[in-house]
Amino acid sequence: MLELRPNCEYCDKDLPPQATDARICSYECTFCADCVESVLSNVCPNCGGGFVPRPIRPQAERRPGVCVGDQPASTKRVHLKWDRAELAEFVKGLREVKPEDR
Ligand SMILES: [Zn+2]
Ligand SMILES: [Zn+2]
Repeated sequence: MLELRPNCEYCDKDLPPQATDARICSYECTFCADCVESVLSNVCPNCGGGFVPRPIRPQAERRPGVCVGDQPASTKRVHLKWDRAELAEFVKGLREVKPEDR
């Protein structure tokens, strides 16, 4: 199950469970759409994979036991562990390669 992390790892923007601009990689590294486009060029700085929009967990319990009230979003903020110069080099080496070929 997705953790639904609360913020963009790069710019620290809040990304609540209903945010439509949250993007995740296959490991659930979480960034905002602006950072994915303008800084990361669809390259996850932690794993080198690409991003997809994060699905929205329903607010209403339409089936028993499954909604954001039953499985709440994570509150543990995550921050990038790479310095920005190193990150830029990493992205540069991968941005021309499609995620399915990385
Ligand atoms: Zn961001
Ligand atoms: Zn990743």
